[in-house]
Amino acid sequence: MKIAMIGTGYVGLVSGVCFSDFGHEVVCVDKDPNKIQMLEAGKVPIYEPGLEDLMAKNVQAGRLTFTENLKDAVTDADAVFIAVGTPTRRGDGHADLTYVFAAAEEIADSLDHYAVVVTKSTVPVGTNRSVAEVIAKTNPSLEFDVASNPEFLREGAAIDDFMRPDRVVVGVESDRAEQVMADIYRPLFLRDFPIVTTDLESAEMIKYAANAFLATKITFMNEIAALCERVDADVKQVSKGIGLDGRIGNKFLHAGPGYGGSCFPKDTKALARIGQENGMAMQITETVINVNNDAKRRMIDKVVDMCGGSVSGKTIAVLGVTFKPNTDDMRDAPSLTIVPALIGGGATVRVVDPQGLAEGEALLPGAHWFEDAYKAAENADAVVLLTEWNEFRALDLKRLAGCMDTAAMADLRNIYSPLDAKRAGFAAYCAVGRRGFG
Ligand code: NAD
Repeated sequence: MKIAMIGTGYVGLVSGVCFSDFGHEVVCVDKDPNKIQMLEAGKVPIYEPGLEDLMAKNVQAGRLTFTENLKDAVTDADAVFIAVGTPTRRGDGHADLTYVFAAAEEIADSLDHYAVVVTKSTVPVGTNRSVAEVIAKTNPSLEFDVASNPEFLREGAAIDDFMRPDRVVVGVESDRAEQVMADIYRPLFLRDFPIVTTDLESAEMIKYAANAFLATKITFMNEIAALCERVDADVKQVSKGIGLDGRIGNKFLHAGPGYGGSCFPKDTKALARIGQENGMAMQITETVINVNNDAKRRMIDKVVDMCGGSVSGKTIAVLGVTFKPNTDDMRDAPSLTIVPALIGGGATVRVVDPQGLAEGEALLPGAHWFEDAYKAAENADAVVLLTEWNEFRALDLKRLAGCMDTAAMADLRNIYSPLDAKRAGFAAYCAVGRRGFG
């Protein structure tokens, strides 16, 4: 199959590279000339483990190319995927579909043969139908179908998620489009990964329902964690105890500083907005959004309390600022709420993150960047463990405590235990949903 992939961000690039690895001929398009230049030079503009090697392999095999020119890319395409961003629209929480419709118009202008235009971006219910209208209006004589193919990959594990998905969701309206999508995903179908074929609206809804459900699961656990702190229970034991119930499942039950990232915050807001527009208040989702904001604020209080009621004049080392490990993505990361609040409270904040500097430097003005956790902790008054990168999971706590002025740690990912901290010589330790000391 010949595929054009519009947008080479986290989703477009991973999808394009993986489709080429299936054996398809893929052209990836981006309107950002810097990204295309980097890709043509064999460099990946984002941090995603394994992506650079897989990309190089498929470029070498002649199946994967990059261009700024959308018209060239769609020349012989059987399917054109739209994988552009759908950020939150300013003011009302709605998904901003400007990029999707602009891409649809450009695709319609450029196509002169039958193709399936597939929306991979996360878009509100009804968008695929609107995309079809835009295409039909722009190029009335064009024969085409639209398909909805929401993406479920997780940054940091994107290649494995794409190659070994829990399911692939395909929303279509014609047998012809269904066949094209089946041909594209045949390698997965042959390996028994489930393909769920639906109508357009259901496919669009599946993506929002899945993300809102996951955000709810995390937020529920964070709220239970807050209660655990009040009643002296340990959320780690609680999540283990409930996660062994097969109906609940043991994933996504880790208490932490609140969800962030490029998807959950914007998709929960967009789902709430879809509800409002359809006269159906999404009360659970709306509450999840509020409770998650509270969770992030609670983390600030936790650090301030640990520092004796004020962070003014204190030096605080923050370990990890990306929204999760193994990505350089800073979109809506909890650090963007927590670090400015600490700086605003008068603290000197030092930051360490294996991949966060490029994006994070501009987003965290006033923070001082360090390359190493121990250097950042030197003569500091507190360490805040915010993103559980592997290198922060196995810290030499004795060494860390030994180089600090006041050995205090806020372990916002519950990596260590009060006992670990005490043994290492920490004077104060707090975590999320479990007892600390000091
Ligand atoms: P991104 O911002 O990283 O990438 C979007 C890319 O599209 C950018 O490089 C931009 O320059 C390009 N672009 C925009 N308009 C274009 C046009 N007309 N022609 C060519 N290129 C164009 O976005 P992302 O994180 O990859 O997300 C894309 C979509 O996938 C979103 O709807 C998102 O919700 C969804 N999604 C994201 C993830 C994730 O983990 N990031 C997971 C599942 C779904």
